[in-house]
Amino acid sequence: MDCLFCKIVAGEIPARKIYEDDQVLAFHDIAPQAPAHFLVIPKKHIATLHDLSEEDDKPLVGHILFVAQRLAEELGCQAGFRVVMNCNELGGQTVHHIHLHVLGQRQMHWPPG
Ligand code: 5GP
Ligand code: ZN
Repeated sequence: MDCLFCKIVAGEIPARKIYEDDQVLAFHDIAPQAPAHFLVIPKKHIATLHDLSEEDDKPLVGHILFVAQRLAEELGCQAGFRVVMNCNELGGQTVHHIHLHVLGQRQMHWPPG
């Protein structure tokens, strides 16, 4: 599987891991866009938001969001944070293995640009 994040899950590429369980992995983004910037990914390869199955993946999506919530709290983002999932080219997705960005510890602005 020629997927960067699958390689991180498999331990073939190093990452600064924050949390791991049987379903998800969280690690610091290599090019942080905020003082706190980490990614929560499913261990299972799912290319984009469009490829999620409503029938199979609902609990997984909920789990990703609750892991993000808990880690944001643990990593000092109590004052607020942003979660983002980019989808496909126009959405700005560069790694085609879904990941929830969590950004915090700075003022966010809207629209994101
Ligand atoms: P996207 O643009 O697909 O929403 O986000 C991909 C994210 O993955 C980017 O924020 C980028 O900095 C991060 N990233 C790309 N390659 C690596 C890597 O090898 N290690 C880590 N930790 N993050 C990466
Ligand atoms: Zn993958």
